[in-house]
Amino acid sequence: MYNEFGINNKAKEIVLKEEENLKEEFKKIDELCDINSLKVLNAFNKNNITEAHFNSTTGYGYDDMGRDAIERVFADVLGAEDALVRSQFISGSHALCVALFAYLRPNDVMLSITGTPYDTLHEVIGIKENKSSLKSFGVKYDEIDLKDNDFDYDEIKKYLKNNKVKLIEIQRSKGYSTRKSIEVDKVEKVIKEIRSVDKEVIIMVDNCYCEFVEDKTPLEVGADIIVGSLIKNLGGGIAPNGAYIAGKKELVDLAGERLTLPGEGREVGPSLGINKSILQGLFFAPLVVASSLKTAVLTSKVLEKLGYEVDPKYNEKRADIVQNIVFGNEKDLVNYCGGIQSASPVDSASKPIPWDMPGYTDKIVMASGSFTQGSSIELSCDGPVRKPYIAYQQGSLTYSYGKIAVMKAVSNLINSD
Ligand SMILES: *Cc1c(COP(=O)(O)O)cnc(C)c1O
Repeated sequence: MYNEFGINNKAKEIVLKEEENLKEEFKKIDELCDINSLKVLNAFNKNNITEAHFNSTTGYGYDDMGRDAIERVFADVLGAEDALVRSQFISGSHALCVALFAYLRPNDVMLSITGTPYDTLHEVIGIKENKSSLKSFGVKYDEIDLKDNDFDYDEIKKYLKNNKVKLIEIQRSKGYSTRKSIEVDKVEKVIKEIRSVDKEVIIMVDNCYCEFVEDKTPLEVGADIIVGSLIKNLGGGIAPNGAYIAGKKELVDLAGERLTLPGEGREVGPSLGINKSILQGLFFAPLVVASSLKTAVLTSKVLEKLGYEVDPKYNEKRADIVQNIVFGNEKDLVNYCGGIQSASPVDSASKPIPWDMPGYTDKIVMASGSFTQGSSIELSCDGPVRKPYIAYQQGSLTYSYGKIAVMKAVSNLINSD
């Protein structure tokens, strides 16, 4: 059956052999899954979730008890005072945009302390020209790069002493960069340093790809507000779209006023039949994140064995679900992505080819055959076609599907030699 599926014996053997060496790593991931499952179940029970919460509202969406219960459950799972969880957020990028516009006013300063933020925020902030950017409203922006894969503590403190900053953004996941993603412990350390100089600045964390990868959240170590996508970790592959903003109640309410309209805020927002999907997605999320982590660990081990540079290594502590593979040449990058695409449940006949994408300088090759468009908690693999030809692979709804896809992608690599 493997051969019939286009997996050659050599690829299958390498993957199964390397998998043997991952028992310790997988045990740790299973333990993490248990803890996160406990958190989720506890939040469901505490908030007394019943079938009535699956009911839906239309129109204004007043008194949507399911929506309100979902927000209490998310708040409990994330260690937050409050949370806004809505399908009126298109995805994580939109929620980040809403949060920034909710907290920043003309002449305020936004400071990123993890270098240039994620690509979709460039036009939001005005790093790239856009007539509706924060910059067009007179919001000022500055950034401080990471230093040796850690925060530049001295530079951050110096900046805060010399400037009144309204909001600090910390992006944990690496995006299309080669830096390390940022663990909660590091977030805790930098927040302590920030608070030693400035007690008021809003500390906002882009938490995309990081939920349930560790057993602590940035809110539990002092962040004011965190933002994430429901077509990533916490949607569990089931939420059809949406995002969350969680943290201090006052800040969550402000985001509500911006998402809908001042005066109506969080009171409106019809759930249009997706309450059950959001709850079920969250219920599955600990397992789906664990499956994604196992797939990433397996990929790291196998591709390292085949002689490629990988980041993180299989036994390294992870902060997110993203696995980098440095292919070193275009052909291997494209062949590997082709293998992932052909092992997808949807669009398996499509062949990923490098293509110009809006907002990117280089051509991008992208494998994604997901049930939900753009969902990257489902297995996907992509990268800019430029030296050193890095693939960014993430997700997998189950470990078996992830493993099969890695076998197929490795077959593609070997066959092309
Ligand atoms: C994916 C991602 C986003 C955007 O999330 P979408 O749901 O795709 O809009 C923002 N920031 C980071 C770091 C991400 O990885």
